[in-house]
Amino acid sequence: MECDLKISNPEILDTLNLGCERSYNTPYANSPFLPLLILTLMRQKIAPKIAKTIKTEYDYIVVGSGAGGSAVAARLSEEPCVNVLLLEAGKVPPVLTDIPGFARFFIFSDIDWQYRTVPQKNTGKALINRQSYWPSGKVLGGNSVFSASVFERGNLRSYDDWAAQGAKGWSAQEVLPYFLKLENNWDSDVLENGFHSVGGPVTAQRPRYCSEIKEPLFEAAREMGYRIGDSNGEQQTGKYLQILSKAQRF
Ligand SMILES: Cc1cc2nc3c(=O)[nH]c(=O)nc-3n(C[C@H](O)[C@H](O)[C@H](O)COP(=O)(O)OP(=O)(O)OC[C@H]3O[C@@H](n4cnc5c(N)ncnc54)[C@H](O)[C@@H]3O)c2cc1C
Repeated sequence: MECDLKISNPEILDTLNLGCERSYNTPYANSPFLPLLILTLMRQKIAPKIAKTIKTEYDYIVVGSGAGGSAVAARLSEEPCVNVLLLEAGKVPPVLTDIPGFARFFIFSDIDWQYRTVPQKNTGKALINRQSYWPSGKVLGGNSVFSASVFERGNLRSYDDWAAQGAKGWSAQEVLPYFLKLENNWDSDVLENGFHSVGGPVTAQRPRYCSEIKEPLFEAAREMGYRIGDSNGEQQTGKYLQILSKAQRF
């Protein structure tokens, strides 16, 4: 089969490691199409560039490359004169983790801290020692590599509670401008309620695919008195799914 793929960032081919990709128990582990799939995923424009040398001095050192650390390091390094070192305990993620629904295939692997909860009193009756499994990414990108890519902010009341307990600048009203700054929402109707924005680095949109089961589920929820609406809006109960654009997930 002929394949004419243009790689925007050719040095990323250095990181193509088919053996590593096959070592995870994904549905594509033994597929002949795996190399093609990986090359397609690697064409993403926003792939991280990993430094091959370490300087002797940095202006900032950020420890942990999860959603928080990555955003802090990215914002700090927007100034070209600022040097930032982002330290991560885990390795570079396999390319297949870029498929959001694939997270479960990497849980319990070497990119997971493999935590378990303490034995639970009220839940986990079917589990060994009543301990729940607690996935946590030990990998460049942290838990965001396992994330299902649902665009979900924290609960506004939690921020207000933190502010009330002394976390200056963390009230819902004070953090909202930062949430808006990071968002690039592709659904114009969603922008109307004032809780969404465009122009930020994280793209969000409704999933294009709508399962047949979605409407009956919403109908059942309505019958039970649940609101169907924007879970990032003023009222956060109910459901209204959005996903992050794959290319800007990490
Ligand atoms: C299975 C799963 C699905 C999820 N789905 C969604 C979703 O759909 N939508 C959503 O909004 N959120 C989702 N989340 C939650 C979201 O991923 C996390 O809230 C978010 O990633 C937390 O970011 P963080 O930076 O606080 O921590 P983490 O992402 O946990 O990052 C911490 C990082 O620090 C590293 N680290 C730890 N100790 C050290 C050390 N000593 N030195 C160097 N590095 C260290 C870790 O390896 C890790 O990479 C999901 C989480 C999981 C587990």
